[in-house]
Amino acid sequence: MKADWQQKAGSILAGIKQQRNYPMAELTTFKIGGPADLLVEPEDVGQLARVMEFCREFSVPWMLLGLGSNLLVRDKGIRGIVIKLTGDFLTWERDGNTVRAGAGMTLGDLSRETARAGLSGLEFACGIPGTVGGAVYMNAGAYDGEMSQVLQRVQAYSLDQGLSWYSKDELELGYRKSRFQFRPEIIVMAELHLTSADAQTCLDKIADLTERRESKQPLELPSAGSVFRRPEGYYVGPLIEKAGLKGYAIGGAQVSLKHAGFIVNTGGATADDVLRLIAHIQHEIKSRYGVELVPEVKVVGEE
Ligand SMILES: Cc1cc2nc3c(=O)[nH]c(=O)nc-3n(C[C@H](O)[C@H](O)[C@H](O)COP(=O)(O)OP(=O)(O)OC[C@H]3O[C@@H](n4cnc5c(N)ncnc54)[C@H](O)[C@@H]3O)c2cc1C
Repeated sequence: MKADWQQKAGSILAGIKQQRNYPMAELTTFKIGGPADLLVEPEDVGQLARVMEFCREFSVPWMLLGLGSNLLVRDKGIRGIVIKLTGDFLTWERDGNTVRAGAGMTLGDLSRETARAGLSGLEFACGIPGTVGGAVYMNAGAYDGEMSQVLQRVQAYSLDQGLSWYSKDELELGYRKSRFQFRPEIIVMAELHLTSADAQTCLDKIADLTERRESKQPLELPSAGSVFRRPEGYYVGPLIEKAGLKGYAIGGAQVSLKHAGFIVNTGGATADDVLRLIAHIQHEIKSRYGVELVPEVKVVGEE
């Protein structure tokens, strides 16, 4: 990273919204995380390309941020540039039963808006509090639905290739997995195939799934959703509950009393609290049941 990159960003990236030392706690659903050196918000592909060229020229590390709903940002924050897509990336359009949605768009909004437009297929996603890009990256899913069921193609940007479309077969979709987890590519648009349906039926399904989610998940407290991936043959929540860890707390981080698969921030939790709690749960579950719990939440930032 070249020493004067932060000064240079002001002029070289002029016209692109940027803020220094941005507290990541404000941009994550956990409400945890130290400052990002620079938060940059490109509005279109041209601005995104300029940001990426800048990162290459000044050897600045970068990461893409969605709605921060699957992230634990360490307390020292993030060195380099955090990119948050805005403007053009927040829109969607319909062409028959094909929907093209910008990666920065909120998945819940897309789910409700497509339902209202009489398109079925994304109802499962109504309560997943991320962006379209984050949902593709994670192949997010809920209630027997998963992005892989509706995705047709994805457009991504990379420094080496510029803009490229990837067909479904090239997306390497698996359980909470996609190609983007292994390559420095930025998802800019997702093309989905939905089916024509009665709008009210779609909206009723959304209302039902919302009620089910609200009754089971601790949505009243900050969290990053399920902390661990589902191990083969087990459900994480009941396993943690059986180990007597429901309500167990380290600092402000607590195993949720409502759903033991969630860690909640009961107030003032640090990333360190959460990481220590994760390690404690992993240790207990491994020693009692021989099961390795692997975090689903992505841990980022300076160690
Ligand atoms: C209360 C709650 C409930 C949840 N329920 C569910 C659920 O039912 N099912 C489920 O699957 N998940 C669930 N989650 C987890 C989370 O919402 C999903 O993983 C979601 O897909 C993350 O999207 P995001 O935009 O917030 O991504 P972020 O958390 O901001 O980022 C996650 C990763 O995706 C990458 N990324 C984001 N956007 C892009 C992009 N455009 N291009 C390249 N990389 C990108 C980031 O760099 C990061 O590595 C829940 C979370 C919470 C807090």
